[in-house]
Amino acid sequence: MNTALEAQPATAAVLDHDVIIIGAGMSGMYQLLRLRQLGLRVLVLEAGSGVGGTWYWNRYPGARFDSESYSYGYSFSAELLQEWNWSEHFAPQAETLRYIDFVADKFDLRRDIQFHSRVVSAHYDDATRRWTTTLENGERHTSRLLITAIGPLSAPTLPRIEGVGSFAGAAYHTARWPHEKVDFTGKRVAVIGTGSTGVQTIQEVAKTAAQLTVFQRNPNWCAPLHNGPIDAAAQAEIKANYPAMFARCRETFACFLHTPDPRGTFEVSPAEREAFFEKLYAERGFGIWQGNFRDILTDRAANAEITEFVARKIRERVRDPAVAEKLIPKNHGFGTRRVPLETRYYEVYNHPNVLLVDINETPIERITETGIKTTDRAYDFDIIIYATGFDAITGSFDRIDIRGSDGQRLKDTWSAGPQTFMGVLVEGFPNMFMLMGPHTALGNIPRSIEYNVDWVTDIVAYMQTHGLTRADARPEAVQAWTSHVKAVGTGLLSNEISSWFTGVNSNVEGKQTRIIARYSGSAPAYRAWCDDVAARGYQEIALA
Ligand code: NAP
Repeated sequence: MNTALEAQPATAAVLDHDVIIIGAGMSGMYQLLRLRQLGLRVLVLEAGSGVGGTWYWNRYPGARFDSESYSYGYSFSAELLQEWNWSEHFAPQAETLRYIDFVADKFDLRRDIQFHSRVVSAHYDDATRRWTTTLENGERHTSRLLITAIGPLSAPTLPRIEGVGSFAGAAYHTARWPHEKVDFTGKRVAVIGTGSTGVQTIQEVAKTAAQLTVFQRNPNWCAPLHNGPIDAAAQAEIKANYPAMFARCRETFACFLHTPDPRGTFEVSPAEREAFFEKLYAERGFGIWQGNFRDILTDRAANAEITEFVARKIRERVRDPAVAEKLIPKNHGFGTRRVPLETRYYEVYNHPNVLLVDINETPIERITETGIKTTDRAYDFDIIIYATGFDAITGSFDRIDIRGSDGQRLKDTWSAGPQTFMGVLVEGFPNMFMLMGPHTALGNIPRSIEYNVDWVTDIVAYMQTHGLTRADARPEAVQAWTSHVKAVGTGLLSNEISSWFTGVNSNVEGKQTRIIARYSGSAPAYRAWCDDVAARGYQEIALA
């Protein structure tokens, strides 16, 4: 098929493909589908043996949604929405992966996905206006466009502790969990890390392990998930209401079903405030974080109120007051880091076979052949689980040698923090489009993915119809967007604390300083900006 993205006289070159997409997670899959509809020759390169990205890799025990299943699935196909039945309000990982496999089959996506293909480099050549993408095994592919669908949380990191690798038992990072079931029965298990992943893992492993020891550096503010099965009546209601539900997600700040209460924390009486917090604590999902008083994430005094409320809940739920105090964060307020949702997480610490080790008091000295040695004592284990997170947002880009015009390296361009245009383009890296890149609105990720993909598809179609083969963000547009991202992040309490939200990872060289890593304005505001750029004919992008 002849498309305008193919070789033109001025840029004569034979291309293997019109578009290479890196990654067959939810963004890469949907992008493949949309570009196929334009008649383009697309190849998706995927490191894993199957589709699903996050849901393919993160098979750790207890992994499940934190956003309501029905608000998380793809919304683009009414038929798909009616065909698929979610079994629980927050589906477990295995069900989500089944869903993603179902989507891949339904839309016959696998024929354009090459598995076991880890990309190690992608280089742009200005003379031919093409990208050359190279795999770990040396295989090369040329294309006009390069689309990164590599996810903001896909580069797992192990702690920089002496002896990692010397442990003779089984050791797993949660994001590289084996495909076979791991049995904890009768085992002495260690978990390092108490983020969203650690919390889900701990509450599951505690059910069967003989002994569970949790090594905690910073506790997080967790809130109850309140999961439950979806019965037939609820299923019918969900299916009848999909259009209205997705319309609602489009309007909320971060595309979740929950929307902030318009009232300020101190505009109500203390009794009303307490009753509202109680109501939110008893409700499903992220309501207590995303549907709370409008000022809890920006006003210190307001934040202190909800923080104190949740601290009280922890004290009520954990029997040993000393353990409860260790589980209560002291260095940040509720909601200023990602809130892990939990199911009887705090009660785990009431079990006689569970031990919480605060590694601020007794730091880990090294991993040994038999377990973990702290300044206090040596612990022996059969299994060590690293729930130590990711080199987030830019880490997945850093792991690929991406070079733009004149051979400039993306890693160098971003050495002081990412600079992008709408999180989609980087000046000097023509024809590279990022899905869920730095400085995009994340939130309820599939909702953001669908918007991101549709926007990229539109500009690709525009290039096609106008015979254009080069798209590069203009420097002033990048500057304006980067300043805007900084401006909307000002005053947010979450930007004053180290976490993956602020690009900090103690395990990665050079990532100890906070940066503005993500767009922290509202999703509707993000979309309005992007829509406006498209409506005005992409003036901020140099098209040729
Ligand atoms: P994370 O939030 O970055 O948590 C990593 C944990 O490991 C933290 O407790 C961290 O402690 C600890 N840690 C890291 N390095 C350490 C070291 N050297 N020594 C001791 N402790 C160390 O990562 P995550 O839990 O994997 O979650 C990342 C994100 O993935 C979440 O915020 C969420 O957005 C997403 N996620 C979503 C779901 C869901 O939707 N269901 C589930 C899981 C994850 P410090 O806090 O002290 O750094």
